[in-house]
Amino acid sequence: MHLMLELASGRNPYETGGMLIGYEADNGDAVVTSLIGPGPRAKHTRFGFYPDPEYQQAELETHFHATNGRETYLGDWHTHPLSNSNLSRMDKKTLARIAKTTTSGTKNPLMAILGGGSGTWELGAVRFLGVKRGLFFDDYRLRSLIVETF
Ligand SMILES: [Zn+2]
Repeated sequence: MHLMLELASGRNPYETGGMLIGYEADNGDAVVTSLIGPGPRAKHTRFGFYPDPEYQQAELETHFHATNGRETYLGDWHTHPLSNSNLSRMDKKTLARIAKTTTSGTKNPLMAILGGGSGTWELGAVRFLGVKRGLFFDDYRLRSLIVETF
């Protein structure tokens, strides 16, 4: 949480983001243990964030090996400076696409958004649980995001 806030404030009022890393607990909860930042070649604009994929993949692999494969990709996070933490239409599409992409390693990806930026940030997080026919955008549910702090 501390790192996320630091990265968010450092780019404010431009968007930033990265990956959420952790594991799925026995009860199915996603447990976030750390995060990956945007990377040196990421692009930050007022209304968009485009991560540095090579950096993200390398960081993810490093983390995966360091934890003997226990901790891996759980989802993504990004900021909405001067807005709220609700998912945009594009965020929802992105989340659905990640869930459908088998190489992502998860069918239930998380998306965490820090909204705000004018002095405070609010954290919103959803976990993709599925799509019901005809109710595409209603099928995002806030479930559980546990942030472990050390
Ligand atoms: Zn967004």
